[in-house]
Amino acid sequence: MWASCDAGHTHWGRHGAAGVLVRHAPETGPARYLLQHRARGVHHGGTWGVPGGAVERGETPEQAAWREAWEELGLRPDGLRPVGSHLDDHGGWSYHTLVVDSPTAFPARGLNFETGPDGCRWFTAHEVGAVTLHPGLAAAWPHLMRLAP
Ligand SMILES: [Zn+2]
Repeated sequence: MWASCDAGHTHWGRHGAAGVLVRHAPETGPARYLLQHRARGVHHGGTWGVPGGAVERGETPEQAAWREAWEELGLRPDGLRPVGSHLDDHGGWSYHTLVVDSPTAFPARGLNFETGPDGCRWFTAHEVGAVTLHPGLAAAWPHLMRLAP
């Protein structure tokens, strides 16, 4: 269900939305972040975002984030270390991003219609600057980089 926020946007999810940013920080070299190309048919299709989606009634944002990450990419929290979370509160609607660390840059691919033709990729922060992010992720990105540089 669509919702409007106090900032004048239209968002999917009456109870807000949530997603998971997975980081892999190798011992040498820059950290990488797992992003998903959004399919043409979904909101802000063609941009890059994190797996995630609307929070359902009765769900915590964390439960919603992991449910969506499972449905979209087959991700489970097992073996991933929580780093922190960021709340982007638009007034009347909010987006929670969980940030987790992965010991590996594991191969990931989209399992349902929400992933676009470019699939999933591990980007350095520098590379993220060269692609079009989902506007919500773009707004949160500087905060996420402070949490998980
Ligand atoms: Zn908004």
